[in-house]
Amino acid sequence: MADKLSFKDIEAKIADLLSTFYKELEPVKSVVWDSVSSDLTLRGKDAAGNDTVALVESKTKLQDLRTRYSGKKSELSTLKRSIGLVIPEDRAKTGQAIQKLEISITDPLTQMEDDLNVKISEIRTAEESIDVTLPGRRPRRGHRHPITLLRERIEDIFVALGYAIEDGRELETDFYNFTALNIPDNHPARGAQDTFYTTDGFALRSQTSTVQIHAMQRRGVPVRMIAPGRVFRRDTPDPTHNPMFFQVEGLCVDRGITMAHLKGTVAEFLRRMFGPETVTRFRPSYFPFTEPSAEFDFGCFKCKGSGCRICKNSGWIELGGSGMVHPNVLRIVGVDPQEYSGFAFGLGIDRMAALMYNLDDIRLLFENDVRFLEQFE
Ligand SMILES: [Zn+2]
Repeated sequence: MADKLSFKDIEAKIADLLSTFYKELEPVKSVVWDSVSSDLTLRGKDAAGNDTVALVESKTKLQDLRTRYSGKKSELSTLKRSIGLVIPEDRAKTGQAIQKLEISITDPLTQMEDDLNVKISEIRTAEESIDVTLPGRRPRRGHRHPITLLRERIEDIFVALGYAIEDGRELETDFYNFTALNIPDNHPARGAQDTFYTTDGFALRSQTSTVQIHAMQRRGVPVRMIAPGRVFRRDTPDPTHNPMFFQVEGLCVDRGITMAHLKGTVAEFLRRMFGPETVTRFRPSYFPFTEPSAEFDFGCFKCKGSGCRICKNSGWIELGGSGMVHPNVLRIVGVDPQEYSGFAFGLGIDRMAALMYNLDDIRLLFENDVRFLEQFE
């Protein structure tokens, strides 16, 4: 073939290629060196926060060089293919020269890529590792709500007195919320205890007394239980009212239970709650589901009876209602009022919390403001 190449032709091309490669390599080399020897982060900032050429960018530059000088479309590749065109006696020499050229191009690139990779993994490790010498960030621990704290105290006292804790449902039928509690249709007490209804005629219970009925139906008598829980009333919220609040209900039914048992139990509960000096008084009252009925007050825990803001200068704090279970209530759950008698009582947990913590506004308990709740740890 006429256009056979000699070693000399190739040698000149190799020299040209190598010199342009070195010219391009030089600035990249210094950038890579800067990257590798600096305290760069992967985001391209040094410790002082200055913008610098990122390591990852250096790596891209190297990859670009490699593609252009040793890739499939590179001059090196063209040279390799041209070995076949070299006259046979020069072919071996040409092959060796091209091989040497390839090594001259890829070796420094590989070396620098390795350096960069080492640096990148060092930085990753440093960024991901934990500095054990730094003070720890303590996770913020929550605590129980003041109403829960109080409910648990009440439960502890009654469990110690031999009472079981009953958990009732909040959605009730008319039967459990009213009828079974001796509040028939059109009874005026239905107005005072008006609650919220679903479109299917279910009611959000307006008192925890509903649990009495469930407990006696399920457990039979004798029974001693308390039922703490949420109740609902159609009330406009104000500092002393909320449409949702917490009550605790107590029930004791057995043979020979009298009003004396009721007074003794409530007095003992209040002594354990507010101190052994606490005095209790009962005032006649009316509830549809008890007969006779009484409201109970206790001597102000703050002023010990001399009169203060909490007790409105009366020396007494009104706390709850109570009475002997109405025979109609016993009958409706199949208990013979001739054989059994019992007492029931109920009080507001949030009202008690408001008293004990001296809250001006009961709604604070339900707003879930952490600044308020934090105080009751
Ligand atoms: Zn007082």
